[in-house]
Formats: sequence, structure tokens, C-alpha cells
Amino acid sequence: KKSFHVILSRIIDVSEKFSGAVITLQDVTEQKQVAEELIRAKEMAEAADRSKSEFLANMSHEIRTPLNGVIGMTGLLLDTEMNLEQRQFAETARISGEALLSVINDILDYSKIEAGKLDLEFLNFDLKYALEDVTEMLAVGAHAKGLELVSLLHSNVPVLLNGDPGRLRQVLVNLVNNAIKFTQRGEVNIIASLEYETTTEAAIRFSVSDTGIGIPEDHVDRLFQSFSQVDASTTRKYGGTGLGLAISKKLCEIMEGQIGVRSVEGQGSTFWFTAVLKKQPHEAMDELIVPVSIQNKRMLIVDDNETNRLVLKEQLKSWNCSKYDEAPDGIKALEMLRKAAETDDPFAIAIVDMQMPLMDGENLGRNIKNDPLIKDTTLVMLSSLGLRGDSAVVKEIGFAAYLTKPIRSSQLYDCLVTITKQQQKAAAKRLSSIVTKHTLAENKNRKLRLLIAEDNIVNQKVALKYIEKFGYRADAVADGQEAVNALQMAPYDLVLMDIQMPKMDGYKATMQIRKKNSKVLNPKIPIIALTAHAMVRDQKKCLDAGMDDYLSKPINPQELFDKIEKWIGDKYR
Ligand code: ADP
Repeated sequence: KKSFHVILSRIIDVSEKFSGAVITLQDVTEQKQVAEELIRAKEMAEAADRSKSEFLANMSHEIRTPLNGVIGMTGLLLDTEMNLEQRQFAETARISGEALLSVINDILDYSKIEAGKLDLEFLNFDLKYALEDVTEMLAVGAHAKGLELVSLLHSNVPVLLNGDPGRLRQVLVNLVNNAIKFTQRGEVNIIASLEYETTTEAAIRFSVSDTGIGIPEDHVDRLFQSFSQVDASTTRKYGGTGLGLAISKKLCEIMEGQIGVRSVEGQGSTFWFTAVLKKQPHEAMDELIVPVSIQNKRMLIVDDNETNRLVLKEQLKSWNCSKYDEAPDGIKALEMLRKAAETDDPFAIAIVDMQMPLMDGENLGRNIKNDPLIKDTTLVMLSSLGLRGDSAVVKEIGFAAYLTKPIRSSQLYDCLVTITKQQQKAAAKRLSSIVTKHTLAENKNRKLRLLIAEDNIVNQKVALKYIEKFGYRADAVADGQEAVNALQMAPYDLVLMDIQMPKMDGYKATMQIRKKNSKVLNPKIPIIALTAHAMVRDQKKCLDAGMDDYLSKPINPQELFDKIEKWIGDKYR
């Protein structure tokens, strides 16, 4: 504050000199001096602003270190014998700690952006997977509230891109989380479409729409400012800092895009943003070769949700399957199947949604299998997570496959290939075992505790979510030093170690952990490197530093699961 006043009075001084100046030969030197002083004052002001942001960034870091201790220790406390009341207290402490951490992480991110210290990474990534990751991760929360969460990637959007998938994901996660938070019933749709493309770049538009509470028109302008919420009661009812949208706006600007919203109070909102991303050179593309046997199959999509039908149609289109039709309900589907059965081109496959009004997927399946005319139709069931996990019932009826939503396009593809190639029964068996893999893993993994060292908040959150889903427990720290500290305090089973981190990087931290007189509780703990460069050279460097294995970023959940299983899967079995 003091330095700001000094600067201000200087600016006033200088401008007073200016206004009174009569230009004579003598004055020219003075004018030059004045100009120099102005420049100096401006630089000082900018430096003061930067140091403010740097201060915030450092502060956040200093707060986070002990907070990680608090969260980690409460986690350990929860593993001990406690009575019900004590357990509730400890659980509340842990949840509060995590909430505080997420606020601090937001502030840290925000000050990083303000200080101009946020650099984008440039990685090759597949937009389809990035979008599917976000949808899969957030579907759990949406389904728990009874909301549909659907993502649609238009088939003309290039997917092999180069840019920062972590930051892109951060904006999407922010918007989708808000949409779920402010919606009580209905659906949340994520749509990715193409704005324009050149030979090297693509501008992509993402929109997240909900059927929630909406936003009053006179509040829309202020939404993207920092610390702004629609009204104070929002904070009481829904929590949050009002930083999410401000951070998203800055991130979009860094990605050469824009952000905006359309909303009708009481009906819902559509937040949208654009980003310009580089396209990967054409050589890098390995196009899927779709068997003709699939392209020629006549398929019927049965779903009451229009966006869902659109998603399936777009997926079929991208594989050049053109012989599809759609039905909005079971009655219409039966009618269409019967009519086609009387021609020489009946439907070969019906993709059926489970949750439909009037006649649900299960009953539709029964009706089809009980009708000699259409009973040979191969049936694929799509069901919302957690609503009906019972693939056995579905198999009993005669479905060949049972997939839980959201379905990745690769899963649907594999499913179609499998049921086309193999016997119906064998296919159904294989698919149901995929679906239940994580559920089975749940119980045995409970005892395992992981530590994630990763400075990028988004990647940290994503990794934590996945690990939670696999059924392990995990704590997160933001740099190598924090990781070493945490390992001295608590007994962990495995470390996921980012390579590039501030203060102490992954290589140095690993050496600290492994060195002879190391104070960590388990110096031999398996360490898996998280590396942004999927290059052999870096991987060797990781192993040389004492790490056991590596994973390349952005993290693929299946690979992450397999690696963790590989190193500690047997530990408590
Ligand atoms: P917060 O952390 O408070 O959610 P955001 O910047 O993400 O901060 O959002 C700011 C405010 O904008 C929210 O508090 C809420 O009032 C409003 N808002 C954001 N998204 C929605 C939405 N999908 N529907 C209704 N209101 C929203």
C-alpha cells in the first residue's frame, strides 16, 4: 500500500510538471527526464502488482504444506479404531480440510495467471479421450443426483490435436461441475463443435448446457469477474469461491478463445467457450479401419433422450455406418423392427437405452426376444451408472452386451466388433466382465494408500478422482519437497511422481527418498513417474533416478490402474 502511494504521488508530480511546461530549448531535456520518470513509475507499478501476485502464490504454497499434513493425518486417524462420534468428527475435519485445499488451489491458480506465470503445455492429445475422461469422471456425481450427463463430439471436429489438455479439461470440469451443482433435475449436455479450421489449426467450440436454476439477466456481466457470485445466498447454499469462472475466462484467453453464457432464469444455462488448438500433422493420424461387415449392418437406436440419440448417430457416422434409424420409445421401436423384418433388410442390431418411460429397455428386450419375427435382432443395452448394475438379468433376457453410460466411443466400437465377430453368448460374457472390473477391485484396494506429487491442480484432481474410483485412497502434494515430507510422516504404499515441479522436481525427490540416510518411512516404496514427454530418453532418466516405472500424461485411467496393480496389486490379497 505504501509503495503504491509513493508511486501515485510520483505520477502526480510528473504530470504536474508536464501540464505547466512551456516548450523552450531548455525544456527539452526536462521533458525527456519527465518521460523517463513516467516510464520508471509505470514499471514500478507493474512490479508492485507482480510482487503482490507472487506473494499470493508463495503464501498459498506455504499454507498448503501444513494443510496437506492435516489432511494426511486425519486420513490416518480415520484408519484407527474410533467410536462413531469420533469418526464423524474426524471425517468432518478431513472434508473441511479438502474444501479449504480446493479454495487455496483456486487462489494459487488465479495468482499464477495474474503474475503471468501460467504457461501452457504443448502435448499431442486426442480430444475424444479428453472429453470422454471428463464425462466419465463427472458422470458419477451427475447420476447420483439423477441427472443425465451426455457428451457429443461432432464428427467433423478434428480430434488429434496439440495443446494443453490439462487446461482444456480444467475449463470443462469447471463448467460441468457448475452445471451439475446448479441443476436439480433434467440433464447436462456437453457439445464440442467446429468453429473453423485451417490446415494447421482448429478453433473448437465447447458448450455446456443445463436445465438448472439459470442466471438473472442483470447478473450475467459480472459472472466472469473474480470472486463474483450471483448473490450471497449462493455461497451459503452451494459453497464455492466465485473464482471458477474468472479462472476459466483467463484460461480461454490464453488458449486464444472466448467464453460466454446464455441463460434463462428458472430454465437453465448454456456456458460456452472456444479454444484454438493446433492440429497434429497428418502423418500422425492412424485412421480406424472399420470392417465392412459393421458398415453394412442395419442398426436401430432406441432412446427417449434426443441428445443421446444424436451422440450415437454421430459415432456411427464417424465409422461410416450409414444404415441406422432411431426410435424415441419402445413401442415405436417394436413397430419399426417388425416392419423391417418383413422386408429383405431387417435390423441386425438394436442399441437400447435402459431408462425410458412407458416401456423400459428391459421390457423392450423381452418383447423382442418373445416375438419370433424379430427375436434374432442382436441387442445392446446402455444403462446409466449405478442405477442397475445387474448385467446378469439383462443377459438372461438375451442381450448380447451391457454397457454403462457414459460409453466411450471405443467401447461401443469394440462392442460392435465383438458381437459381430463372436457368438452372442461369448460376447456378452466378455463385456460384462469389463464393466464390473472396478467394482470388484473396490474392496481389496481400500487398504492401499497412494501419494500423488503433482503441481498442476487439474491433473492432481483428475488423478485423485480416478484413484478414488479404483477404490484406493490417496493424498496429494504439489512438489517434491512436500512429497518427501509426507513420506516421512505417513506410511504410503506407492507414489505417483510428476517430473516437472517447482521447488524440488521428481528426479531430486526420488533421489532424496532413495538415498542411504533417508528419513522416509519406506525408502523402497514403488515410485511411478508421471511424464509429459513420452520419450524414451526421459523414461530412462526416471529409472536412473531410482523410480520404478513411468506413465505418460495425460493420464489414461486404464493404464494408471494397470500400473498400480502391477506394483502393489498383491500387497493385501
Ligand atoms: P463458484 O466457485 O462460486 O461456483 P464460479 O465462478 O464457478 O464460482 O461461479 C460463479 C457464480 O456463477 C456461481 O456462484 C453461481 O451463482 C453462478 N453460476 C455458475 N454456473 C452456473 C450455472 N450453470 N447455473 C446457474 N448459476 C451458475
